[in-house]
Amino acid sequence: MSAVPLRNNKAALAVRSVTVLGATGSIGDSTMDLLRASKDRYRIEALTAHTNVKALADLAREFGARYVAVADPGRLQELKDALAGTRTECGAGESAVVEAAARPAEWVMAAVSGAAGLKPALAAVDRGATVALANKECLVCAGDFFMQRAAQAGACILPADSEHNALFQALASGNREELVRVIITASGGPFRTWSSADIEQATLAQALKHPNWSMGQKITIDSASMMNKGLEVIEAACLFGLTAEEIDVLVHPQSIIHGMVEFSDRSVVAQLGAPDMRTPIAHCLGWPDRIIGPAAKLDLAKIGQLTFEAPDFSRFPGLKLAYEALRTGRGATTVYNAANEVAVAAFIAGKIRFGAIARLVEATLEAWISAGNLAPLASADDAIAVDYNARNKAATLLPQIALKAS
Ligand code: NAD
Ligand code: MG
Repeated sequence: MSAVPLRNNKAALAVRSVTVLGATGSIGDSTMDLLRASKDRYRIEALTAHTNVKALADLAREFGARYVAVADPGRLQELKDALAGTRTECGAGESAVVEAAARPAEWVMAAVSGAAGLKPALAAVDRGATVALANKECLVCAGDFFMQRAAQAGACILPADSEHNALFQALASGNREELVRVIITASGGPFRTWSSADIEQATLAQALKHPNWSMGQKITIDSASMMNKGLEVIEAACLFGLTAEEIDVLVHPQSIIHGMVEFSDRSVVAQLGAPDMRTPIAHCLGWPDRIIGPAAKLDLAKIGQLTFEAPDFSRFPGLKLAYEALRTGRGATTVYNAANEVAVAAFIAGKIRFGAIARLVEATLEAWISAGNLAPLASADDAIAVDYNARNKAATLLPQIALKAS
């Protein structure tokens, strides 16, 4: 018998009830793909989408979901019509998405995009569910408060973001006192080698061309600006209770090493894998066991070389701003996220240049701080109010930022 304890697989064999928030998105799609491969092991409690009724109804029919919710309140009848003749209950509007999260599924994938995912994620957390968290914006918006509430409710948060899932796996090699720092890797995005002047003028089509990952539109643009890595620095701080000084970013264009943890003996433990979100999602779905993942087998001999660079804060100022917001605290990360969401929407709408995304975030943070608005977040409602007010602030600053060239 081995001296290393082997976990038994009984838990993995029991049928598990599952809810997927944001089922029609990129993460939702990868999650449904994994669930599809073992339909006898999972029962779908609820599925949600923003507006895509057809895709949601197709999934509900395929998986026999008990409840579906579309966030757009005007689409209830359309959803009901699409599911006529089934036993699936339908809901519409923000409260219906929250209800989907509140229904009794053991495991919830939180994959709504943006701070809109906060209330549904909290509904799952508050009933003590196991929550696979892909939606980083909700953590960045709520700050420490989200994890405190999860701890109070006895919820289990499983990091689904690839870098944080890597850290979660590597952290098992030591304890908190032995941890020196974590390193989250970044591909560098499509503009890794571009000059500031070229980044300033980048088009939407160029920003949407991610070299390694296939993802939703918002996160793909965030990857091009490296705002995504900024959000992930804050996400790591919230998830694992780390300071800004304990989190390093390393540019690694091949996206094979996803995260590393350095311990006091100078051992650095890394997690590797092909850039396929189904691997971290499979880890969350199987946890504490391991299930079979469909990603390509990692062939390091074929890849040949793994390379690394320091991040360039001057060409990617959004990353620097994330560290500053994290150090500032008291709602600054909420403002960082809210302003970025406004900026990305404005860039997609053709209202601002790519380079103005970070300028709008910086201007919103500066205006927020100089107005004396920083205050500790005591509740989810506080975070939601800061998010709302910061969006308004960013929207009022937008016209002058749009006019100003770098
Ligand atoms: P996506 O845009 O492809 O999908 C978003 C999902 O959320 C869709 O189902 C959409 O219908 C739903 N949605 C959007 N706005 C909503 C609203 N206001 N109310 C209710 N539902 C809404 O996004 P994605 O790429 O799947 O990303 C989802 C989340 O996961 C993001 O927070 C992202 O940062 C994070 N994430 C994504 C990846 C990835 O590879 N795609 C990797 C790591 C983390
Ligand atoms: Mg990531």
